[in-house]
Amino acid sequence: MSYTPMRLLVVEDEPKMARMLQRGLAEEGHQVDVCATGEAALQQGLDVPYDAVVLDWGLPDMDGVSVLRAWRARGLTAPVLLLTARGSTGEKVTGLRAGADDYLVKPFDFDELLARLEVLHRRGGPVDQGAQPLGDLTLEVRRRVLRRGAVEVTLTGREFALLAELQALGGDAATRSRLLLKVWGGDFEGTGNVVDVYVGYLRAKLERLGTTRVTVEAVRGVGYRLVVSA
Ligand code: CA
Repeated sequence: MSYTPMRLLVVEDEPKMARMLQRGLAEEGHQVDVCATGEAALQQGLDVPYDAVVLDWGLPDMDGVSVLRAWRARGLTAPVLLLTARGSTGEKVTGLRAGADDYLVKPFDFDELLARLEVLHRRGGPVDQGAQPLGDLTLEVRRRVLRRGAVEVTLTGREFALLAELQALGGDAATRSRLLLKVWGGDFEGTGNVVDVYVGYLRAKLERLGTTRVTVEAVRGVGYRLVVSA
């Protein structure tokens, strides 16, 4: 297993569990912050560029899935592993729909949690690193900046999440409903029109950069795909 230190956020109100997670993850060389309430986590998660987040469903002030929806709605792209109570398959489904990348049922094995976090981090790896090439552009992930030569544009959280989601599909088409779910969260009360609007914003920014190699293409009857030509 390749070892990469991560910056992690643990959201857990139960002191014993929080301590166990913090200690265990720190012993593996990771940098760990802990939040005990949903409200604190909401701010902390948006303030710091975490590599991954462990989020407990049951929090004293709001449930974890509401925190997750609010994060995703504000453009948080870090992978989130949701901790749920035993036997609640409904929570699992709701959690995944709200934008969780993985889940574990309590009580869980620490080594399994660790392994899953490493997988999530690796899977999201390129997206979480500093700068990455995209056709004739460079995407600076931390700053949410797209650059071509000396020209750069800053993406909003949603534009960035939209681009990241399209990019993750590697040229395959994403349906509007998938994009709605991934970028706006499962509870968005709207239609695919908002996707079209944001694709418009993203295209306008690509146009401003003058790229000829990166385009967002409409796929009739489906949605959109990202085309990066050589
Ligand atoms: Ca709890």
